Amino acid sequence: MTKQLLQTDLLVIGGGASGLAAAIAAKRICGDRFSVCIAEQNPRVGKKILVTGNGRCNLGNTSKDYAAYHGSLTAVLPEFLSQTLSSKEFFQTMGLYCREETDGRLYPHSNQASSVLDTLRLTTEAFGISVCCNCHITGIQQKQHTFFIQTSDGTIIAKAVIVATGGFAAPKTGSDGNAMKWLSVLGHHETNLSPALVAFQAEPKSLRTLKGIRISATVSALDAQENIIGKESGEVQFTENALSGICIMNLSARLSSENPTALSLNLLSHQTSSQTQAMLWELYSIRTQWRTEDWLTGLFQKKVGIQLLRSCKIPTDIPVYQVTPFQLERLSQMCHDWRFPVISRGNWQNAQVTAGGIPLEQLRKNSLESKWISGLFFSGEILDLHGECGGYNLNWAWCSGQYAGMEAVAYLKNTLERTV
Ligand SMILES: Cc1cc2nc3c(=O)[nH]c(=O)nc-3n(C[C@H](O)[C@H](O)[C@H](O)COP(=O)(O)OP(=O)(O)OC[C@H]3O[C@@H](n4cnc5c(N)ncnc54)[C@H](O)[C@@H]3O)c2cc1C
Repeated sequence: MTKQLLQTDLLVIGGGASGLAAAIAAKRICGDRFSVCIAEQNPRVGKKILVTGNGRCNLGNTSKDYAAYHGSLTAVLPEFLSQTLSSKEFFQTMGLYCREETDGRLYPHSNQASSVLDTLRLTTEAFGISVCCNCHITGIQQKQHTFFIQTSDGTIIAKAVIVATGGFAAPKTGSDGNAMKWLSVLGHHETNLSPALVAFQAEPKSLRTLKGIRISATVSALDAQENIIGKESGEVQFTENALSGICIMNLSARLSSENPTALSLNLLSHQTSSQTQAMLWELYSIRTQWRTEDWLTGLFQKKVGIQLLRSCKIPTDIPVYQVTPFQLERLSQMCHDWRFPVISRGNWQNAQVTAGGIPLEQLRKNSLESKWISGLFFSGEILDLHGECGGYNLNWAWCSGQYAGMEAVAYLKNTLERTV
């Protein structure tokens, strides 16, 4: 017989962003009526929160742009958002003030992710929520309205459970998808998983001289037949083996079920290719005696200009007047269609979020409760919803956490009333 570790009314599995929000929301409603406990496998809660937003934590977004979210649960997202506090309001209730930056991005006023975690941790403590760290959940069973939750050290007994174990992205922070093994025994399966908010690896030879450079571009993702399967404008960042940056990461979030075979960068999307050609002829005549490596000075960063010339097979050490009309035309095309064949999508280790998860069809209508198991709820990245860059994923973590917490308390009240 396994040791009984503890008994609680509500067990939240996973002490990440959405698990902490779920526990706080539940306890805020139920007060002393029900006990709430968080089981976290790491030695401390909220490890991932500390690395978000480059240590600043882009904790939400004020925009109501539903197009920034993807996955089957987007169908019910407006409903959930309308019934929960916005990210800004949720943190204000805990005394954490936010600053709003461009495009509605919210950050803690301190600009430190640790203040977000401290606020959640200290609120949890003040509310009397128990936190069991180093507690790895390995299985779950329900018998007559009671859950028996297995850990490596014994069994936890609970009347309701919220699974907030995250997805597969950034497994070093604890979210390695292990929960899917024991959830599958209960009939829950994730769909269409892929790493999202991630870079695309490209041929290192083409990137060698560009490493570290950031440029603005409109990027088209192309399939093997050269059809455009996604398009996004913004900052592109070159690394030694990949194209990254917000623009590329957002493309990866949109193209969760397909991988492009190439990325095409339009560096001058504000003008047509014939305007670009005319501009290059003008530069040709003004700078005709200059060396080609200086021809594009002021138009692009030096290394970008040189790489463009190399891609068009124009030597960089000849006078501009030696460039042929054919080469000039090619360069003008290249400014609008600079190709980078994609080798692969980045992996779970460097992805920020999981595309895919438990789909809408496995949940009750307008609810985060399991379709089959009463009293079992889900929140956060484990669900089939992911957002683009800009605070949308944490928006979802707080929103779904609050919603699952509210639903779990309503469930506890109902079951208790039935059994009294
Ligand atoms: C580098 C990086 C930067 C990011 N920056 C931003 C940003 O600025 N803005 C934004 O909106 N989003 C950002 N994100 C995404 C965002 O952090 C996640 O979407 C969000 O944290 C998901 O919350 P969650 O609670 O669902 O999962 P998680 O935060 O992953 O928490 C899940 C928790 O469950 C625990 N757990 C898992 N299995 C078990 C088990 N069997 N037993 C017990 N515990 C378990 C894990 O240890 C973990 O602590 C970023 C992600 C990364 C990786």
